[in-house]
Amino acid sequence: MSDCLFCRLIAGEIPAAIVHQDDTLVAFKDVNPQAPLHVLIVPRKHIASLNDLSTDDDGLVGSMIRMAAALARDGGYHERGYRTVFNTNREAGQSVFHIHLHLLAGRALTWPPG
Ligand code: 5GP
Ligand code: ZN
Repeated sequence: MSDCLFCRLIAGEIPAAIVHQDDTLVAFKDVNPQAPLHVLIVPRKHIASLNDLSTDDDGLVGSMIRMAAALARDGGYHERGYRTVFNTNREAGQSVFHIHLHLLAGRALTWPPG
């Protein structure tokens, strides 16, 4: 059994509110939502952080961003706006070391972020 939380979630060992999945990606609701829409878009492939990406992953990361845009559109947020975030390592607050793209929408999001 993997000791990675998101690998276990993708394998169905941990329950999740999955909103979309395909051969390479799984998208599910964040358990501690920070906005009315807060979804995490995760590759099935285990990659610990953006620091571990290779050129082989360029298409995968592109598909994550396009899935975020598609889910924002599905939710009706594409014109109001939405935010996409990758946190990397300690000072950015990364707590799960399997890359995930946060999609946040449904409220006015402040800038700069905290
Ligand atoms: P990070 O802090 O690494 O950028 O984001 C990790 C996110 O995963 C957090 O927003 C946290 O709420 C979410 N999270 C942590 N554990 C679980 C879980 O078991 N299920 C779901 N759906 N989200 C989780
Ligand atoms: Zn993993």
